[in-house]
Amino acid sequence: MTRVAIVGGGPAGSLLAILLARLGLEPVVFERSAPFTSGPQTGGRSINLALAARGIEALRHAGIAAEVAELLIPMRGRMLHDPAGAQRFLPYGQRAAEEIYSVSRAALNALLYRLAAERHGVEYRFEHRCVDVDVATGTPIVATRTGRVAVEADIVFAADGAGSEIRRALAAAGSIEATEELLDHGYKELTIAPTATGDFALEPNALHIWPRGRFMLIALPNPDRSFTATLFLPNEGAVSFAALDAESVGEFFNREFADAMPLMPALVRDYAEHPTGMLGTVTCAPWSFKKVLMVGDAAHAIVPFHGQGMNAAFEDCVVLERLIEAQGSIDACDWPTLFEDFERARAPNARAIADMAVENYREMRDEVRDAKFKLRADLSFELERRFPGKFIPRYSMVMFHPEIPYAEAQRRGATQMSILERLTAGVAALDAVDFRTAAELIDAEL
Ligand code: FAD
Repeated sequence: MTRVAIVGGGPAGSLLAILLARLGLEPVVFERSAPFTSGPQTGGRSINLALAARGIEALRHAGIAAEVAELLIPMRGRMLHDPAGAQRFLPYGQRAAEEIYSVSRAALNALLYRLAAERHGVEYRFEHRCVDVDVATGTPIVATRTGRVAVEADIVFAADGAGSEIRRALAAAGSIEATEELLDHGYKELTIAPTATGDFALEPNALHIWPRGRFMLIALPNPDRSFTATLFLPNEGAVSFAALDAESVGEFFNREFADAMPLMPALVRDYAEHPTGMLGTVTCAPWSFKKVLMVGDAAHAIVPFHGQGMNAAFEDCVVLERLIEAQGSIDACDWPTLFEDFERARAPNARAIADMAVENYREMRDEVRDAKFKLRADLSFELERRFPGKFIPRYSMVMFHPEIPYAEAQRRGATQMSILERLTAGVAALDAVDFRTAAELIDAEL
């Protein structure tokens, strides 16, 4: 039987392990961490994540959506907080099912691991950190407590995340080309505590945003009725992580996020103790070398502003499974061709969501405050109602329509934006939009 190793037991590694085990393979997962538990994590790398239709579709395909559903808190839209503390709700979609879900990263990783190990017999080797790759053969080298060992496998899936050791080792050896383009903004995780009576301090079924132009605060609900708040700030400059310290953070929050400040009793401690995370976009080409294929963030990490990195990683796993199935026999699988087919199928979509995620940062921190943005959002919903199946808001295509690939959502989104711009030029309210022209434009261009 083909010996398969998966390096990295995060969302992509574990879902892939489940799908491969269902095909009859016996993947072994090499994970640098200690065995996963769903217990509390210290602040650092996004404590909770937004799961949307693409991810759910992949989980359903793997037969585990019902188990994951127990971890989810629905978020039906954005709750915008203005500097005076007024809140305004902008729904994500206009159908009941058009919502996204907050999920704890630790709980999800632990559940996927449990399902892979217990239900599908997948072997995990924890505390096995990949530290290098033998580029002559593509063999990963892992460090364990007792020393370094070569991973014996015929096929290796590198699912070791944005900082992939495998990608970096292959790039350093000149076997592939890779870029890590850092954003000049970083993030820090903070906590909005439950109320004194143990309830949510803010509306739980929303993703809260305090958009402030050059920077923003967001918050996603947790099952313990706290929220994880994330501050996104420039790394350098007058208002930046470099300029702000534990002494000045209280005053800054009082000025910029006055309604959130009283809900954050641990603000100063969190700010001092939690690391400042970096954000960036990873590209590499090709995605494979010899027996190694990169998947998920290892191949295409993106900035988190569309909440799609994990969703895209889950989609990768299903595409890969389908390509393996299409080969007919696993033992006669033509892996080099399959790797190429996988990259051909996924790379344009990875590029598209990477671009849309960067664009969404501007939208979240700035444009959502704009009257024109609100008018275009309202008009998008109205056009979707009047021309169902033809006009679908771009956000909805990305978040709620897994049948539309990211690259197509980006292409159609650009055409739709041009239509929206023409229809709202010189128009202040929805009832002044010329819907006859709208019908003509949609007919001609979509
Ligand atoms: P990872 O989740 O990074 O998993 C990699 C695994 O490999 C980990 O278990 C790690 O311990 C292990 N590993 C790493 N190096 C090694 C090594 N050398 N040897 C062995 N094991 C190793 N995505 C969304 O869909 N929605 C969101 O709302 C969202 N929010 C985000 C917010 C922030 C602040 C950030 C940073 C990211 C966010 N993302 C979000 C992106 C999401 O976290 C990633 O896209 C997703 O985790 C990718 O899964 P992965 O399995 O490819 O990589």
